[in-house]
Amino acid sequence: MLPPPESVRVTTSRVACDGATDIPGGAALGHPRVWLEIDEKGYVDCGYCDRRFILIGGPADPEGASGH
Ligand SMILES: [Zn+2]
Repeated sequence: MLPPPESVRVTTSRVACDGATDIPGGAALGHPRVWLEIDEKGYVDCGYCDRRFILIGGPADPEGASGH
């Protein structure tokens, strides 16, 4: 089974993803760098690695919704 997609919380609506992770050896599973634009939903999914980028304070930010 595949692990659940990773969620990354970011501060800007324009993010780059190359699939690399902080896990040792994870970079070997990377992909060509792509630029992603977070839309009005507050998040965007990378089409290569399914990583989800969530805009901090946006509609999809679970902590932002709590007013924290
Ligand atoms: Zn990616």
